[in-house]
Amino acid sequence: MKLLEGKVIAAQMREDMAKDLEKLTQAGVKPGLRVILIGNDPAAASYVRMVERRSNKDGLDASVLYLEDTISEEDLLNEIVKLNEDPSVHGILVQMPLPKHVDKDKIIEAISPEKDVDGFHEINAGKLYVGLDALNPCTPYGAIHMLEYSGIEISGKHAVVIGRSNVVGKPMAMLLLERNATVTICHSRTKDLAALTKQADILIAAAGRPHMVTADMVKEGAVVIDVGIHEVDGGITGDVDFESVKEVAGYLSPVPGGVGTTTIATLSWNTIKAALKSLS
Ligand code: NAP
Repeated sequence: MKLLEGKVIAAQMREDMAKDLEKLTQAGVKPGLRVILIGNDPAAASYVRMVERRSNKDGLDASVLYLEDTISEEDLLNEIVKLNEDPSVHGILVQMPLPKHVDKDKIIEAISPEKDVDGFHEINAGKLYVGLDALNPCTPYGAIHMLEYSGIEISGKHAVVIGRSNVVGKPMAMLLLERNATVTICHSRTKDLAALTKQADILIAAAGRPHMVTADMVKEGAVVIDVGIHEVDGGITGDVDFESVKEVAGYLSPVPGGVGTTTIATLSWNTIKAALKSLS
């Protein structure tokens, strides 16, 4: 089994990003990323600080805007308008979840589609659906980077995606379809999940259920990408039962150190792409 290590893929991505950064430097542009964090959840705060650190290392001008969880929806929308209008900002990411009194969909739609580096805006989701160039959600696009930079053929392969959320499962399926995979999407009402996953050349586990994918659900030699992230017994684990699946899979992404890492690198990738587009 070959391990799909996020840091190896991210290093390869950075080599390509460096070329685009060079173009931007010549045009006098530094890609700007603003992450909005509302409230003081320690895990979310530590995540956005890590994103900020990593993105700055990638050559971006990244910073976090910390807002109180008492902020009104209107004031939050005004903050987004300011960032939309700021030419030094190319990417805006609002860390989820939001406080209950704030309508998530309204916030996503308020972000300029050109700066929507999370790829959640309906314009970007729609463009992905009809096969137009768009900013794509970082986690599934990061999984695509993992496959492509590892030289894994997608075209003609049977890809099975477990999960159909707007954040991971659906865009993952569309990105694979766009690359000519034959795609099966599974969800909580799917009957006989194992019979489907067993057919997968590429299996994407994004159900949010710790260790649910076991060796008996995986075809010999399959590529298995574990998107899940769970805190279990003080450690981090994924949707795949790593110890059993590693005996069957041909390629396997670990948790931690897999898709989490490519997700953050893809955020830099998307911000650089947005900055490049702003030149034209
Ligand atoms: P979500 O919104 O809870 O969606 C989970 C999906 O899995 C749903 O479509 C659900 O089906 C399906 N599902 C749940 N249980 C299932 C089962 N037993 N069999 C088949 N399908 C099942 O979660 P999400 O936001 O997509 O995230 C999925 C996982 O990825 C989570 O562990 C999350 O923490 C992780 N994640 C990681 C990153 C990263 O950077 N690595 C980023 C985002 C998310 P229904 O639609 O029928 O309910």
